[in-house]
Amino acid sequence: MTNAPSIFTRIINGESPCHKVYEDAHTIAFLDIGPVSRGHVLVVPKEERVRLHELSEASAAALGSALQKVAAAVVKATGCADYNVLQNNGAPAHQAVMHVHFHIIPKHADGSGLGIRWDAGKAPTDAAALVEAIRKSVPC
Ligand code: AMP
Repeated sequence: MTNAPSIFTRIINGESPCHKVYEDAHTIAFLDIGPVSRGHVLVVPKEERVRLHELSEASAAALGSALQKVAAAVVKATGCADYNVLQNNGAPAHQAVMHVHFHIIPKHADGSGLGIRWDAGKAPTDAAALVEAIRKSVPC
């Protein structure tokens, strides 16, 4: 069974409209249809994957480069000095469109932008084991 293409795949394929602000061989960026603040942009790899870690190295590298360029453009065009970059993976982590994407959300002088509640926990007591497990899992 194949999943239906996401709205972002339809945008990439030119089957759905968008307000495009950037495109290269691997990446596209366009205005979010429900912006949190003025200049809220999505940066999307053309490779069709749900979660960030599923991307190919080439796609991830191109995405990182495009993300920096589009962030610079949003800062210049909107005049915001500050912004958040948000990237959700999986429905429980607030991902609504199941195609990798980064949000660039300007924080404007009027206070508009992303509000974050961050419940910091305590540092792990098994940090050494956790570090070892993560280090061993970094893909070559
Ligand atoms: P997320 O919760 O990270 O998956 O966010 C998905 C984002 O995609 C939301 O901010 C939506 O407003 C945005 N979105 C959904 N459909 C479209 C569309 N057709 N064009 C632009 N943005 C969209």
